[in-house]
Amino acid sequence: MTYEFVPPIYPDETIYSYAARLHVYWAEKNHRKTAKRLFGKAPINIDQRLPLGIEHIARATGNEVDTLLQHHTFYPLFSGFVSCPIALKEAMLSKSGKNLANASSVAQAGIASLGGSRYCPLCIERDKLQYGIAYWHLSHQLQGVTCCTTHDVELVQVEQCTRKFELPPQQDESNGVIASKDALRLARLLLRFNSDFEFNIPDCREDYWGGPSELLRLKNQYRGQNVDMAVLMEAVNLLSEKVFNFRILSENVVFNLIHCTDYYCHPTKHIFLCFVLDLLSVRQPETSVNRDLHNQILERDRFKTIGYYQLGINQLRPTSREVNRSVNYVKSIARQIGVKYQKRTKFITPDIEARIIAKAKAGVHRQTIAYEEGVSVSTVELFINGVLGLSEKRRNLRKESRRKDARQSLLNTMSNLPELTRKNIKKAIYADYMWLYRHDKTWLYQTLPAARNRTKL
Ligand SMILES: [Zn+2]
Repeated sequence: MTYEFVPPIYPDETIYSYAARLHVYWAEKNHRKTAKRLFGKAPINIDQRLPLGIEHIARATGNEVDTLLQHHTFYPLFSGFVSCPIALKEAMLSKSGKNLANASSVAQAGIASLGGSRYCPLCIERDKLQYGIAYWHLSHQLQGVTCCTTHDVELVQVEQCTRKFELPPQQDESNGVIASKDALRLARLLLRFNSDFEFNIPDCREDYWGGPSELLRLKNQYRGQNVDMAVLMEAVNLLSEKVFNFRILSENVVFNLIHCTDYYCHPTKHIFLCFVLDLLSVRQPETSVNRDLHNQILERDRFKTIGYYQLGINQLRPTSREVNRSVNYVKSIARQIGVKYQKRTKFITPDIEARIIAKAKAGVHRQTIAYEEGVSVSTVELFINGVLGLSEKRRNLRKESRRKDARQSLLNTMSNLPELTRKNIKKAIYADYMWLYRHDKTWLYQTLPAARNRTKL
């Protein structure tokens, strides 16, 4: 039923406040009776932000359900952050609080101390002048809002029994404490989020709408897929302690907010992270700086190379060494400016060939030979393959050298640590041990200390 002579709900008033005002208006002493009248159930817990029993109170007071839900609760904001907004709406319309916790999927973990009820001393005075009574404002109640965005003063927090309907103090002589800039900015951002959802403005696409990951991208904080969490957490904690005197975001929550698309948490946490990221300065795009520097150096070397060619030097290798660039680099410049360069094949005289083969026979590494003779590694390989048996001989040479090293390593280990068992020697010099095991087993077993008998004596 709808009661007669019900006063209207005031702008920005919470459902809880409306109930408290009607309780006073009806001069009711018993809170249970008021609960029964307005919500059809007693006792009932009515939260300042996400109240229950909206269908019932709408009927009892002649208000529209949607008006109450959209403009007098934080349903709009939470609907944007829960996994199932319809379930949240149903829970809020019904009288049973059972599903609200599930439906809102917004654990209060870490922000319980931001709960309670809040009022602004200056709003109290203003409302009394305008309406004759001071009431609870919805915009003061959201977790994270610590100041009045109309008067720029800090809100006063009080603990309220949600089963009793009580109005804020009707008098507060203090003129309020001026709020900090950061607290005000955050309060405005939180309320802006709510009003964007409330009026469902699809065109309202500000930076923060993209969420933390979009903001990180705009601030150039990504390195590949990663974000420097240490830097980020420092900024988060600094601002959190400044505004709330404690840390509201754990590293785990921040990580999930950035990397998980289906991570649901209290909207205040999400918005607070956006708030911090929005204040971060844009990181210098290192890549473009590096590229500029890289291009400058490239240009310098190009001039240097051209300079050598102009001096009449037309050999690629010495030029390459002088400018400390690859042969291909100096070759491409020679081609670009039409310099006729000497081709390498010219340089491989029978002398050089003989030296390469001699070095190869001595077991010198291919790369060393190539470097010393100023030829490519593949040229050295070509000569090695051209001499029958040389390739195999080199392999044997390498094997002998490896055997020498492995044996020495085993002997050293045994003389340094005579107590070691076979098992521990294997552990200590695994690579050498395994090489000997595969290629030099007889010597290995002759050399190793006697195997210990496993059976107990
Ligand atoms: Zn105020």
